[in-house]
Amino acid sequence: SPAPAGVSAWVSVDLDAVRDNVAELVRRAAPAQVLAVVKGDAYGHGLVPVARAALAGGATWLGVAQLAEALELRAAGVTAPLLSWIFPPGADVAGAVDADIEVTVGSAWTLDAVVAAARERGRPARVQVKVDTGLGRGGILTDWPEMVERVAGARAEGAVEVTGVWSHFAWADAPQHPTVRAQQVRFLEACAELERAGVRPPLRHLANSAATLTNPAAHFDLVRPGLAVYGLSPVPDLGDSAHFGLREAMRVTARLTLVKRARAGQGVSYGHEYVTERDTVLGLVPMGYADGIPRGAGQRGPVLVRGRRLRVAGRVCMDQFVVDLGPGYDGSAGDEVVVLGRGADGEPTAEHWAEAAGTISYEIVTRMAPRLPRVHV
Ligand code: PLP
Repeated sequence: SPAPAGVSAWVSVDLDAVRDNVAELVRRAAPAQVLAVVKGDAYGHGLVPVARAALAGGATWLGVAQLAEALELRAAGVTAPLLSWIFPPGADVAGAVDADIEVTVGSAWTLDAVVAAARERGRPARVQVKVDTGLGRGGILTDWPEMVERVAGARAEGAVEVTGVWSHFAWADAPQHPTVRAQQVRFLEACAELERAGVRPPLRHLANSAATLTNPAAHFDLVRPGLAVYGLSPVPDLGDSAHFGLREAMRVTARLTLVKRARAGQGVSYGHEYVTERDTVLGLVPMGYADGIPRGAGQRGPVLVRGRRLRVAGRVCMDQFVVDLGPGYDGSAGDEVVVLGRGADGEPTAEHWAEAAGTISYEIVTRMAPRLPRVHV
């Protein structure tokens, strides 16, 4: 993959893969629309280029957690419909309305703020109401009847146009889990309660990647995949990316900064958790936990060097880790190390790193640090 000049570790992102993954999700979700979730710097893949690729693949909506992310998209000239969902008290809700960003009403104060902004502007603000159907996180839970009444009032006054009602699953990655069905039932009840109050939002949505791929009954009018957009399987137990017709977009590459001989019995890295068993060649990889390499994956973290799968030797440090290249290694500093890739040619995947670190692939890709240059190919 192309390397930026003078850089020893970088993230390349295959935008064709993003576009094709979204096209596959569009195909699976039809007639429901697709909102591509691009929060967290597009799960570490680079917000603006990924947003454009997702739109090219047929997504009709983009979704972000924070208002700042939505404003960044608008500043870059992205005009597609945008939904943002985390509004802490004091957030610039009026700024969101001005930037044509749909505000998620998930609390009484968000509705107050949006209504105030709409009154000042003399035109309705577009909102999507969030109901907590059982995740126990964001959205209206026990106060739903009051919220329905208040939303209906704000709509009657002409302060809001309610374009959506939505919720989020607790166990979408376990499609047979009883909460999945229970949340769908509760969601339909919540929609019916809104309808009885005269509010019938055109977009009802509930599905993340896992539900988009495994649970058509949860598609409603729009689906909100994140992980699958990046070509990662949200349900690795049911199938890998290829099984779902997706391909991984992220590739992380580094260049060895040092290659040196070491004798048998040489302790490696802090705490000498790895000791060479024989005379060998050690290679220094210029990535560490400050770059997003999980320290907890020490000794198990996989890499690919010249077509061979190797593991991290000893502890991952802040800016580097070591690999034992073996006694026969005849390469030199500058050789490429694939830290993460598609898996098709033996590269370790985000899923492999997640297993090594006891976490999920989401965390592996989103934590690739901003200091690693992104190269969009
Ligand atoms: N919808 C909401 C509200 C989210 O917070 C997220 C991300 O966690 C998603 C959709 C996308 O989830 P996934 O990446 O599992 O598809």
